[in-house]
Amino acid sequence: MSDYVASLLAEVIAKNPAEPEFLQAVREVADSVAPLLDRHPEYRTARIFERMIEPERVVLFRVAWTDDRGEVRVNRGFRIEMSSAIGPYKGGLRFHPSVNLGILKFLAFEQVFKNALTTLPMGGGKGGSDFDPKGKSDGEVMRFCQSFMTELSRHIGPNTDVPAGDIGVGAREIGFLFGQYKRLRNEFTGAITGKGLNWGGSLIRPEATGYGCVYFAAEMAQSRGLSLAGKRCLVSGSGNVAQFTVEKLLDLGAIPVTLSDSSGSVYDEAGIDREKLEFVKQLKNARRGRVQEYAQRYTGAVYTEAPAAGSPNPLWDHEADAAFPSATQNEILAADADALLRNGVSLVAEGANMPTAPEGIERFLDAGILYGPGKAANAGGVAVSGLEMAQNSMRYSWRREEVDDRLRLIMKGIHEACVETAGRFGEPSNYVVGANIAGFLKVADAMLDQGVV
Ligand code: NAP
Repeated sequence: MSDYVASLLAEVIAKNPAEPEFLQAVREVADSVAPLLDRHPEYRTARIFERMIEPERVVLFRVAWTDDRGEVRVNRGFRIEMSSAIGPYKGGLRFHPSVNLGILKFLAFEQVFKNALTTLPMGGGKGGSDFDPKGKSDGEVMRFCQSFMTELSRHIGPNTDVPAGDIGVGAREIGFLFGQYKRLRNEFTGAITGKGLNWGGSLIRPEATGYGCVYFAAEMAQSRGLSLAGKRCLVSGSGNVAQFTVEKLLDLGAIPVTLSDSSGSVYDEAGIDREKLEFVKQLKNARRGRVQEYAQRYTGAVYTEAPAAGSPNPLWDHEADAAFPSATQNEILAADADALLRNGVSLVAEGANMPTAPEGIERFLDAGILYGPGKAANAGGVAVSGLEMAQNSMRYSWRREEVDDRLRLIMKGIHEACVETAGRFGEPSNYVVGANIAGFLKVADAMLDQGVV
């Protein structure tokens, strides 16, 4: 590590001591771009990296609402507007009890590079709340969303900042948030993506992150003359990203064998087929139940509770060819990475954001397996959000095949950009270096053009 990067990291640690996830994300990018900063002192002189790690704006607000018993509840709302160098701030909203400033800053930081990789004109942002939608009635979720949006609406807009969904924010929440935004602003604009199909949403947006991740994985496999057909795949999570990852894996002839939620995981040796996937969609999206019910419904499937310590997680300890972590950050620690490698996994494509801890990434890279980091592999969701913004601006909508073709081309383009950039910096097949440098360059050059702001 160069002295410059070391002193930069020391300063970030001193300034943000209580934000481990943010520091983790910054450290990874800093390691990757260090050789670029050595080759191009103009980025150092203009303090580009120092500016990238400081959000342009952070909004933190109180969200007061009333539960079904008439009791007043108070949550915390956030919006991190990280970078508008290449377009309006863009990134999802997460509703989960673990949400705090550091987690949202890590997500917003990652989003800046991811959005740049899509080649679409989108800056980076992220937001959310420590509100937990689990166990809440639809009425409670609606009242919370309305209160949240009453404040957030001052800060967003189709040319300013365009939120979308993330953990805990799906079709229901987006509907309530958009309804309140429209009521307050008295205008129907594409200020949120992930909207319903009959009120401005884009076809393929719900599918986009999972489908895109599998398209990326297929590109990685193809680079070694392989395909996903017949491959046994471990998938974590059972929400939006996991469901559509399983769906696209089935389309390509692969065999998904696991799913999970925060309580535990199911392993189905026979494979999760389309009928079983439909059961999971109903269970999670309509009945809002637990994944354990899968094992009660399908004999042969085994349910295992999540370990209290988080790792080693038995979910990752099955014989398989590929893994698609699609739940949350740091779900693959060192012991989990060891288990994956021991069990024959030779491809990891991250549907979730930063699901693999640094020691896990190191093991994957040392083993020389195909490892697609989230900011490249899961960029399909925000890419189709960008396409939703384009369709809203045109007051037009593209057909399903058109959007899917664009998504596939964008994922192919991201794969090519990663491989080309990694090769240029002497690390062929290192998608971490490729994604970080390619994303950095696009944003950094825009910042140089725009002066010291
Ligand atoms: P989601 O629909 O809310 O599903 C999240 C899934 O992950 C659920 O099964 C959830 O289980 C599980 N999970 C959440 N927190 C967990 C924890 N701390 N430990 C274990 N399991 C946990 O969310 P999603 O949209 O699929 O997002 C999943 C991941 O993909 C996140 O990292 C997100 O940032 C990333 N991502 C999403 C998109 C998108 O378009 N939605 C785009 C790019 C990246 P419970 O039900 O028990 O909470």
